[in-house]
Parts: sequence; C-alpha cells; structure tokens
Amino acid sequence: MVEKFTIKDFNRMYPDDKACLNEVFKNRYGHLKACPQCKKETKFYKVKGRKCYACQYCGYQISPLADTIFHKSSTSLRNWFYSLYLFSVSKNGVSAKELERQLGVTYKCAWRIAKQIRLLFKQNKELLSDIVEIDETYIGGKHRGKRGRGSENKTSIVGLAQRKGIIKAKVTKNTKSSTIKAIIKDNVEIGIDLVTDEYRSYNGLGKLGFKHFTINHGEEKWVEGIAHVNTIEGFWSQLKRSISGTYHCVSPKYLQHYVDEFVYRYNHRLSSFPIFQKLVLAVVKQA
Ligand SMILES: [Zn+2]
Repeated sequence: MVEKFTIKDFNRMYPDDKACLNEVFKNRYGHLKACPQCKKETKFYKVKGRKCYACQYCGYQISPLADTIFHKSSTSLRNWFYSLYLFSVSKNGVSAKELERQLGVTYKCAWRIAKQIRLLFKQNKELLSDIVEIDETYIGGKHRGKRGRGSENKTSIVGLAQRKGIIKAKVTKNTKSSTIKAIIKDNVEIGIDLVTDEYRSYNGLGKLGFKHFTINHGEEKWVEGIAHVNTIEGFWSQLKRSISGTYHCVSPKYLQHYVDEFVYRYNHRLSSFPIFQKLVLAVVKQA
C-alpha cells in the first residue's frame, strides 16, 4: 500500500521557500559533519537573503540548489515543490496549462517546470525477470497505418512488463525485429519466459536465449495459462487515456518523457514510500 502524503502534510512541512530550501540542503548535505574547506566540525547556517548555507567558522558556502532541476529558476522554490506535489498525486499527469493556472505563472514557465520534473521519472537500468510480456503500440498520427508500418504518422513504443512487477517502455523509431530485440536484450535477463503476440518482429526470440510463448488474439483461448499480454495492454490503455485526456497531443520529441512519467507512476504502485518524497530526494540532475 502506498502511504498517503496529503496536501495537509505538504502545507505543514513546506509552509515557505525557506522550509523547501532547508529540505534540499538536508537531503544533499545533511550528512556533512565537517566543513569541506576548514575541516572543522561545523554547523552550516542559512545565509540571509541568499539561497545558500555557510560554515560558521570559515564562511565556506554551499548552494543546495546547484545541479538540481530548480537551479537558476526565478520561480519560487515552494511553487516548484507544489508542482512536484501535483505530479505526485495525479493519476493522469499534469499539463502545463494546469500548472499555469495553479501557480499563476506564465505558460512558458509552467511548461519548463513540467519538462524539468519529467526528467525525474527517467527509467532505471534494472533487468526484468520472471515472466515478461512484450508488446508495442503507436501514438499520434492521423491515419491508422498498417502494423509496423505506421511510422509515417505515428510514433511507436515498445513495452516490457514483468508479471506483478515493473514495466519498462521505450519510444522507438520503428518496430523492426532488430529494434525490438535490442531493447529486449538491454532490459531482460537471458533465459526467462517472454510472452508476445504473433507479430513477425518477435520471431526468433528463442535463438537469443529466451523461452518464447506466443498468443494469438484471433483465437478464443488466448488468455489461458501464461500466454497473455494483458498487463502491458492495460498499461497502454492507461497511457493513451492520459495522453489524450491531459496532454492532448505530445510531440514525438518529448514522448519518451511522458512515457517515463507513466511508467514511474505504474512502477511506484509497489512501493510504500510516497511519490512526492521520492521526487524531492531525486531533484539532482543526472549527468
Ligand atoms: Zn569552514
């Protein structure tokens, strides 16, 4: 069960910019016992009027916001935190329009905040094991292209779902066998059971060292046993609902960030740690 972190908790813990800055300082530098410069055991105090802390002896300064998504932003830190909160409690995502309304900032500013926050959802490199369902889907475009050839107008996404586990999903240029197999090799442990439908790009997975089960949507008994891709299909429908409902249309250039966001939400359902607090801990930009 996911522990609830409510707006009441948020307002109590983060009443102002100072509380937010202190949280980032504590998370990044709370472990520091000695000053990196004078090496004395020190307490760092907040420098008045500046977003930094200083050593009580030598004045060595630490800027907790450096290298974070908040760096050099003119938006108040509390607004950033509140945006993180909105993303953390939303099921279907938070549009820039919504942030613009809630924060009272310009659309451009709201869009930038959302874009930075979405960087925090980046998928990790953990390998999938157990039984993994694999399926691909297509987003956008005006015409329903033939499967695998819809790339004139649509963007393809390849998804991998570990049963009762986590999901990974990658935006791809196409759904050729070589493209899909490269993703599988990068994300799945060799030797485990893979389930796909009978799309030809999945042919030959056995030769790569996996056990390959296929289903046929045309046959009645396709959910029998382990041979189904219901998990990943459920994820696709949630993703599509959210993209068409909240984000309306997403440019292929940014689609991976949106996919990451929904993968993150889906995967977090297994954790008891509130998403908001997890995001606050992850604000340092990855190189
Ligand atoms: Zn010092």
